[in-house]
Amino acid sequence: MNCLEFRRCVGAEPSASGAGIEGHRAKCPACARHQDELRAMDAVIGRALAIDAARIRKGDTTALPTGSATRRPRWLALAASIMIGVTVGFALWIASPRPSLAREVIGHVAHEPDAMSGTAPIAQATLAGVLDPEGTRLRPGLGDVTFAMRCVFEGHVVPHLVVRTARGPVTVLLLRHRSVSGRVELAEQGYAGVVLPAPRGSIAIVGQLKDLDGIAQQVFEAVDWGN
Ligand SMILES: [Zn+2]
Ligand SMILES: [Zn+2]
Repeated sequence: MNCLEFRRCVGAEPSASGAGIEGHRAKCPACARHQDELRAMDAVIGRALAIDAARIRKGDTTALPTGSATRRPRWLALAASIMIGVTVGFALWIASPRPSLAREVIGHVAHEPDAMSGTAPIAQATLAGVLDPEGTRLRPGLGDVTFAMRCVFEGHVVPHLVVRTARGPVTVLLLRHRSVSGRVELAEQGYAGVVLPAPRGSIAIVGQLKDLDGIAQQVFEAVDWGN
């Protein structure tokens, strides 16, 4: 099992275990930590739902019209669990030592090398599933999108795309949570890239190309940030 397979697997089921999972955990601390974070979020969400279920059993539904006794608490629990999930993710992120933004971005890209190797365009629906929750879109014309996943980055879920531009594949991370005051250049481990201030947070563009600036500008302009 490689890093990408591992992250797909635990992303769908944080409590996943088994020989493949444990084997990868043993040799890849970054993936092990990734799963630990997902498990922690999952546990807190589970507790929030359990508390709510206990309230329903006690008959604490006085304010609810007949028939909606289960529907509304479930909705509330879901809203609460999302809030708690975000808070836990953020807490885990600030509790761990913070490497520089450059190192975080390159580390993330270097850790999912298989993401760069695909050549077949992914389905529109897959791309929409990754970008829609952010209220963003990618305008056509930039190149085929060959990879799209919602990844955990600095305790936040962020869209991670790979676009095959005319000059080669580039990785794009939409970092809505992370503001930068100006452009940040990245160059590490054979990767070159740039983080640019965006209408919402920032955008990281990374590739293994020389002179990435022109492509970075094209990528930046291809993102429709919504309102
Ligand atoms: Zn790994
Ligand atoms: Zn990723």
